[in-house]
Amino acid sequence: MIHINENILSMEKNYLFIDIAKRLAAFTAANPDKPLIRMGIGDVTLPLPPVCVDALKRAADEMGVKETFRGYEDSGAGYDFLRNAVSGYYSSKGADISPDEIRINDGAKSDCGNITDIFGDGNTVMMTDPVYPVYADSNKIAGRSIIYADSNEENGFAAMPDPSIHADVIYLCSPNNPTGSVYTKAQLEEWVRYALDNEAVIIYDSAYEAFITDPSVPESIYCIEGAKKCAIEMCSLSKTAGFTGLRCGYTVIPRDITVSVGGEEVRLCDLWARRQGTKFNGVSYPVQRAAEAVFTPEGQRQIHENISYYQRNARLMADTLTSLGIKFTGGINSPYIWLKAPGGMGSWEFFDFLLNEIQVVGTPGEGFGRNGAGWFRLTSFNSYENTAEAMDRLKRLLAGSA
Ligand code: PLP
Repeated sequence: MIHINENILSMEKNYLFIDIAKRLAAFTAANPDKPLIRMGIGDVTLPLPPVCVDALKRAADEMGVKETFRGYEDSGAGYDFLRNAVSGYYSSKGADISPDEIRINDGAKSDCGNITDIFGDGNTVMMTDPVYPVYADSNKIAGRSIIYADSNEENGFAAMPDPSIHADVIYLCSPNNPTGSVYTKAQLEEWVRYALDNEAVIIYDSAYEAFITDPSVPESIYCIEGAKKCAIEMCSLSKTAGFTGLRCGYTVIPRDITVSVGGEEVRLCDLWARRQGTKFNGVSYPVQRAAEAVFTPEGQRQIHENISYYQRNARLMADTLTSLGIKFTGGINSPYIWLKAPGGMGSWEFFDFLLNEIQVVGTPGEGFGRNGAGWFRLTSFNSYENTAEAMDRLKRLLAGSA
């Protein structure tokens, strides 16, 4: 009889979105006349920017012609045209990242989950709680134990390192999913200092960097001195440019991050290249051409037009919650709003309350970790009309009771 990886069973049972889907299916079956407004979605709703569609079409045409057809990509790390474009994007933020420190992927989730492959079992893995579940689950699948740094109301859902606790691998996400909070420059400097002091590596997820509007908030960890010695950065075009269905992202591993093994310095980027060379064959040529278009001046204009649409939704949500006296983080620099369930309700209780009373669907904070108890996530990835309708309903429901 085969043996399975039993670690997987332990996480499958309470997978957040499966629970939500079940409750929604039951509600819809019992109330077919009451359509839902889904404010829990973590997927974009606006279509691809035209520059990307044009690039895709041109690349598809090239693929149909013998002279310009492309098969396997040599390195699987991404074509030079795209790695150069990403490197240029980093320069525009004041970060010096060379194209050969960048690897293109099929979205940040894969690399967030797969990076565990290059780390050994003896590490102390630290992440914030609440957390984007992929970091926790991928470590659980690998049988690793995790210590959590508390993000909570007291610290504005921006956990900071405790110098008395040692960690080797640290996951940070800013702007954060689910809490919408961001780390300031000073806070990131503290994390980088902690990582250097502990000879640790930070895995920094910047999937929502394009939503940052406050010029004092770093858009990359490489805006922080010393980060190139201790931080891996993962980014995605999913929310930035509507690539959730197209699939493209990138991971930066600076060549200066090394680990001493048997007296020899081993580069993490070489380990990752070896791992990817074994298990990943690159991103399709048309998708990489579409991604390249994102980094052109016209591409940047078009993606920011879409992002502004979501930001307008987020502002409306933030204004509504403020007027209701409900505490929240996010909404600025982030498509997510993380709010405290009013009246001391639990997060699943608030989920059911909104579903039953006004048919607005969000995500119970508890699903992201124990500090999410009593908190709730809404997203701005809906139409403005739906967002406005949901906020009107919320106001009518809660006015005077929050
Ligand atoms: N990182 C965070 C924090 C996310 O919220 C998401 C998607 O929701 C991802 C990574 C994965 O994005 P991708 O679509 O690039 O796999």
